[in-house]
Amino acid sequence: MNNERVLVVFSGGQDSTTCLYWAKHRFKEVYALSFLYGQKHKTEVEFAREIARKAKVHFDVLDVPLIGQLGHNSLTDISVTMDTEKPEVGVPNTFVPGRNLFFLSIAAVYARELGIQHIVTGVSQTDFSGYPDCRDSFIKSLNVTLNLAMDEQFVLHTPLMWIDKAETWALADELGVLDIIRNETLTCYNGIPGDGCGHCPACKLRRDGLEKYLKTKNKN
Ligand code: ZN
Repeated sequence: MNNERVLVVFSGGQDSTTCLYWAKHRFKEVYALSFLYGQKHKTEVEFAREIARKAKVHFDVLDVPLIGQLGHNSLTDISVTMDTEKPEVGVPNTFVPGRNLFFLSIAAVYARELGIQHIVTGVSQTDFSGYPDCRDSFIKSLNVTLNLAMDEQFVLHTPLMWIDKAETWALADELGVLDIIRNETLTCYNGIPGDGCGHCPACKLRRDGLEKYLKTKNKN
């Protein structure tokens, strides 16, 4: 157990909720930070608040509409129809340019105000749909930049970086929270909690991972 405090960038989805419990097992005190950025499904923040309350961690929301106003993407712009498959070239239009850069920079400023050095994010290079700001190289680079920008010694933790969705479910099970994550988180791009709408890219990835994990679990 690390005798320090930690800040988790928290959306109330599968990945960041797994990270929240991962952090709870490792750090003395956990703070969760959510963002309102103009996402179509603002209710995700209410799911996040409820999960944080049950997990007995500190919770805060920052209103940062700018990031949603800047770029055209299907998560913040209702006139953009969501890509359901990964395009042959480039990233799907569920990519919000600059989001992780912006969120993690804000999170670092927030952490600094509280005297917190450790920051956790649920990004994964393994299941990253081609999002450049989920890659390990980006996180390592940003960690250096944040330290230089504020003359601090932040440590960015990425417990999911090298694991796929099935292994993320396995981690949730290990942490004893598989049911909480299955039933109470919101990952679906159509705003439906738990197992979701079943057909958006986020639901497909989540369900395929769960099925794969449950199959291997039942074999053992
Ligand atoms: Zn869905």
